[in-house]
Amino acid sequence: MSTLIEPAEHTALRAAVAALGRRHGPGFDRAELWAEAGKLGYLGVNLPEEYGGGGGGMAELSIVLEEAGAAGAPLLMMVVSPAICGTVLARFGTDAQKAAWLPGLADGSRTMAFGITEPDAGSNSHRITTTATRTGDGWVLDGRKVFVSGVDIADATLIVGRTSDARTGTLKACLFIVPRDTPGFGRRAIDMELDAHEKQFELTLDGVRLPADALVGDEDAGLLQLFAGLNPERIMTAAFAIGMGRYALAQAVTYAKERQVWKTPIGAHQAIAHPLAQSHIELELARLMMRKAAALYDAGDDLAAGEAANMAKYAAAEACVKAVDQSVHTLGGNGLTREFGLARLITAARVARIAPVSREMILNFVSHQTLGLPKSY
Ligand SMILES: Cc1cc2nc3c(=O)[nH]c(=O)nc-3n(C[C@H](O)[C@H](O)[C@H](O)COP(=O)(O)OP(=O)(O)OC[C@H]3O[C@@H](n4cnc5c(N)ncnc54)[C@H](O)[C@@H]3O)c2cc1C
Repeated sequence: MSTLIEPAEHTALRAAVAALGRRHGPGFDRAELWAEAGKLGYLGVNLPEEYGGGGGGMAELSIVLEEAGAAGAPLLMMVVSPAICGTVLARFGTDAQKAAWLPGLADGSRTMAFGITEPDAGSNSHRITTTATRTGDGWVLDGRKVFVSGVDIADATLIVGRTSDARTGTLKACLFIVPRDTPGFGRRAIDMELDAHEKQFELTLDGVRLPADALVGDEDAGLLQLFAGLNPERIMTAAFAIGMGRYALAQAVTYAKERQVWKTPIGAHQAIAHPLAQSHIELELARLMMRKAAALYDAGDDLAAGEAANMAKYAAAEACVKAVDQSVHTLGGNGLTREFGLARLITAARVARIAPVSREMILNFVSHQTLGLPKSY
C-alpha cells in the first residue's frame, strides 16, 4: 500500500521542486538551476546524510528530476552524477573516495559523468574493450567511449573498463574515476541534432595514468557494482521521460482549451481530447512502475529492481514519445514554431527510447528473463 499511495513527504518534495522548476522555467540557465537545486539539497536527496546528502533513495531523487522536467527544466546530469556515480561511490567507494566526492555531488558543487558506451560495443556492453593495466603504483587506461554526456561540465568521468587479465569473455567490469584534465583523456563533442544544455562526447583514453585509488570498489566485484549504478540510471531515465511527457502534455492541454477555429475550443473534439487523455493515463502508469522500481531498489532488492527499472524505463519512454508527438500535433502549425518550443522535444523524447538501454534490449530482457523465451543472439 505504502508504495501505491504517495507519502506526504514525497508530495511535499514534489511541490517544492515543482515551484523551483516553475521559477526557472523552460528558458532555464542549467548551471544556475543546478546550483540552486544543489544548495536546497535536491540533487543529493538519495545520498547518505553523513556525506551531506538527504539520506533518501531513488524514490526521492526520481521525484526531483520528474518535477524539474515537468516544469520544462530537466537536469539530465542528475541521471549520471548523483544517481549512477553517487550510488556506486556510496555503496562501493572507499571512505576516502566517499569523503572526496559525495559532499560535492550532494550539494551540486561537483559533478561526475559516466562512460560505458563504446563505438564497437554499443548495446552489447560485454564487448567493451577499454582496458586497465596495472602499473607499479596505479593503472593505465586505454580505450574509446562514445555519446558520453556532460564530460565538459563534469569534474570527472566514471569510466567503465575491464582489466588486462580479463580482456575477453563475459564482462568483468571495473570502474575508474578519471578527472577531466588528466593527460591522455581526450574529448570531442559530437554534433547531435538535440536542442539540449548537455553535450555528448566521444572520448579517447590514450595511456591515461591513474593512481591506485582511482579504482572504485573491487576489481573482482564486476557486474554487481555496475548494476548498482545502472538500475538508478534506468529509474532516472524514466523520471526524465515522464517529466518531459507531462510538460508537453500540459502545453497541449492549455492550448486545446483556448484555441477555437469552429464553435468550440479544439479540446472539445474527441480526436484531440482522447489522445491527450490516453497520454495522461500512460504517463501515470509509467510513473507507478517507476515508483515500484524505486521502492524495490531502495529496499535493497537489486534483482527485482532490475526488472522493474527496465519496465519503467520502457513504459516511460514510450509514453513520453507519444505524449510529445500528440502535443506537437495538438498545436497545429504552432507545434513547429520556436515560440512554443515543442517540436524540439521530438528528438529529445527519442533519447529515452535509445539510452541508456534501447527499447529492443528491454524487450529482449523481458523476453528472456521474465518470460523465459530463447535468445536469438
Ligand atoms: C543523448 C544521449 C546521451 C547519452 N549519454 C550517455 C552517457 O552519458 N554515457 C554513456 O556511456 N552512454 C551514453 N549514451 C549512449 C547510449 O547508452 C547508447 O546510445 C545506447 O546504449 C545504444 O547503443 P548504440 O547507440 O551503440 O546503439 P546499437 O547498440 O548500435 O543499437 C542500434 C539499434 O539496434 C538495436 N539492437 C541492437 N542489438 C539488438 C538486439 N540484440 N536485438 C534487437 N535489437 C537490437 C537497438 O535497439 C537499436 O535500435 C547516450 C546516448 C544518447 C543518444
